[in-house]
Amino acid sequence: MEPRIIVHGGAWDWADDLHGAMAGYLQQATAVGWGVLQAGGSALDAVERAVNVLEDAPVFEAGTGGIPNADGVLEMDALIVDGATHKFGAVAAVRQVQYPISLARKVLEETDHCFFVGAGADQLAARLGMPLVPNARLITPEAFAQFKRADATGTADTVGAVAMDSMGNVAAATSTSGLPLKPAGRVGDSPLLGSGGFAWNGVGAAGATGYGENIMQALLTKYTCDKMAQGFTAQEAANAAIHYIDGMFVNSMAGLIVIDGRGRLGVAHSTPKIAIGWVGDDGAIHTAMDGSGFKK
Ligand code: ASP
Repeated sequence: MEPRIIVHGGAWDWADDLHGAMAGYLQQATAVGWGVLQAGGSALDAVERAVNVLEDAPVFEAGTGGIPNADGVLEMDALIVDGATHKFGAVAAVRQVQYPISLARKVLEETDHCFFVGAGADQLAARLGMPLVPNARLITPEAFAQFKRADATGTADTVGAVAMDSMGNVAAATSTSGLPLKPAGRVGDSPLLGSGGFAWNGVGAAGATGYGENIMQALLTKYTCDKMAQGFTAQEAANAAIHYIDGMFVNSMAGLIVIDGRGRLGVAHSTPKIAIGWVGDDGAIHTAMDGSGFKK
């Protein structure tokens, strides 16, 4: 099968002057994930590596560059889903891990459990050989300034990726510092299976971003995959899911990236913007800061 990948850098409304930097990192993340897939690597490897690039990008609210909570502490959440086995790994409110998506992958592959939170998740990272980094080192001067101003408007967002490998396996990955300036301990949709991400071989995979309280009540990515199981294409399922959440909430503020079981891509959002990178049918890497810029 022809591999596929699509990544996102959030759905919200950020300042236009961030577009250049965001597009550069989305391009790089797509290229890294695509390189994995072109070399015969797995969908799981592709989404993890692509998200690692975006976790390192200071412009996005994930890993380094995440926005602190109301107490000035960075608390990060991540989810990775394996469509082949239906297993997932998730972490929430981790504070000392540079690559939360890689810790989620370790939860998936190296533990008998699915979900670790808080100090126990940081301790697990150390036990599994990941370096612990001081929380303050992950907070960039720009993110700290936003915390001091108690103003997170105009910032870029959560990151994620969905992919299909040459064996037809699908995977989804999401990583975030959650809503900027959130109360300590608050966790959104991003690490929750069926909310922030879902993947099922033969059906497809979906990743969500936006206002987590809405997305988790809608089980948005499970809904999207259920639509594909009923025969909707990726784009039809994405549209149907946004229509569904829009019917549930005034101002639903959600975005979706989707791959269906035949490798077709879909994007939809109810936010002013969604930032995406993908490999088109032409084999070239594209980026767009708005769903309307998405052409397969
Ligand atoms: N969905 C994330 C959350 O609510 C935030 C985002 O996607 O920007 O934590």
